[in-house]
Amino acid sequence: MSAPVIVLGAGPAGLAAAEAASASGQAVLLVDENNAPGGQIWRGGPQRWRDTRAAGLWTALRARPHVTWMAGARVVAPAGARALLLETADGALIQPWDKVIVCSGARELLLPFPGWTLPGVTCAGGLQALIKGGMPVAGKRVVVAGTGPLLLAVAATVREHGGVLVALAEHRDSGDLARFGARLALSHRGKLLQSLQLAARLRGVPYLRGAGVLAAEGSGRLERVLLRHRGREQALDCDFLACGFGLTPSLELATLFGCAVEQGRVLVDCAQRTSVQGVWAAGESTGIGGVDKALAEGRIAGLGAAGVAPQTKDLRVRGKAQAFADLLAQAFAPLPSLRAMCTDATIVCRCEDVVAADLAPHAGWRSAKLQTRAGMGPCQGRVCGSACAFLYGWEAPGLRQPVFPASAATLALPQAETQAETQAETQAQTQAETQAQTQRVDTLARAHPELPQQQTN
Ligand SMILES: Cc1cc2nc3c(=O)[nH]c(=O)nc-3n(C[C@H](O)[C@H](O)[C@H](O)COP(=O)(O)OP(=O)(O)OC[C@H]3O[C@@H](n4cnc5c(N)ncnc54)[C@H](O)[C@@H]3O)c2cc1C
Repeated sequence: MSAPVIVLGAGPAGLAAAEAASASGQAVLLVDENNAPGGQIWRGGPQRWRDTRAAGLWTALRARPHVTWMAGARVVAPAGARALLLETADGALIQPWDKVIVCSGARELLLPFPGWTLPGVTCAGGLQALIKGGMPVAGKRVVVAGTGPLLLAVAATVREHGGVLVALAEHRDSGDLARFGARLALSHRGKLLQSLQLAARLRGVPYLRGAGVLAAEGSGRLERVLLRHRGREQALDCDFLACGFGLTPSLELATLFGCAVEQGRVLVDCAQRTSVQGVWAAGESTGIGGVDKALAEGRIAGLGAAGVAPQTKDLRVRGKAQAFADLLAQAFAPLPSLRAMCTDATIVCRCEDVVAADLAPHAGWRSAKLQTRAGMGPCQGRVCGSACAFLYGWEAPGLRQPVFPASAATLALPQAETQAETQAETQAQTQAETQAQTQRVDTLARAHPELPQQQTN
């Protein structure tokens, strides 16, 4: 069997890629840092899935002996040419690769405002992930704020788990939302139906359109949120504030392979091939577009890696999903007015406690980093880099290896392996030389028995 196609990330894109690649008998290694497959939207593992697409893909993969599932393994760096360094709970390992599909998903765009570092304030999907992970919210008062369709999904999760939704505050105004709805009605009826179903689950929740977050307040932890709505300030008492301003592609893995990135997303061609030979990319890493885009792109990438051409239907499905992604990008791009949330005293780099007033005078990311240490903490600019790109128009910082924090033992592994290989090679060479010398001496002794015998070992 040929070397496995390695699929990095087991969200919708990764599951679809692994299924498509393995359908023709191609060996596949599916890797994810989470212990369960499903990515962001199907978080929590197969026992929790309600979406039949997730269950269908996973059942197919589990039935194929040539598919290997490696859970709890995070790719952190390259390990020489065409090998990856992975960290697991038990240690580290080096995985050679021939063909890889990067399905690394997205993270939330965090925009700073006064009080955003208080305990109780999370990003929107972050609160959803905590709830799905078992954090109780029954009886807790929750405000969901920001912009974009994820807010509805998060609010629905809060309500489903017994949380009390104080308000859902959307930054876009009624006009913007009506225009988005009309575009959905025209070309994406399925999506319109989904949003109406979500809205029905949120019946009775105050839905504030055109509302902006001013600050989160509390002594030691969140107690209230200040909003501006219809020209008036409002204070809403709450236990949690879940704030979402959209998503941004996770580029660490693509960067690790040296794939070209444009406008904050991995550049791919119509076959989902990246700029690097043998590397495909699919899902949110190539641009934010939701689960349908992730599934369609994953399938095309998986087929490509297995050497199978996609069918017209696959391309049509992806085209439709990409059109929805374009619509989302237009309808919910963070408005420039959101910059006003960040006051001079607002912390922007929360790892190094750097406030906006110290960052604003700089011309770019590099100078700000050198002078203030912004982006030099554990997140390495993953959070404040995107925030600064939005606030000041700075190009987000380039990522360094390792692309995720890793233990020293993990990082030492490639060197230890190289040393072990060199030692083994030297030993083998010495042995071969000794053998050759012994042979030469024996031959000499046989040819000239008159010579005195030599010690050869
Ligand atoms: C926090 C959050 C919540 C969301 N909630 C919803 C929702 O409720 N409803 C909805 O419609 N959409 C939601 N989305 C959007 C959703 O992510 C997409 O619609 C869809 O899941 C994208 O699929 P994907 O496969 O591209 O990425 P993901 O589902 O994000 O999967 C990427 C996978 O790659 C893995 N990975 C990344 N880097 C590494 C690494 N270095 N090593 C190993 N594994 C790695 C991750 O662990 C993850 O499992 C959410 C997004 C985010 C960020």
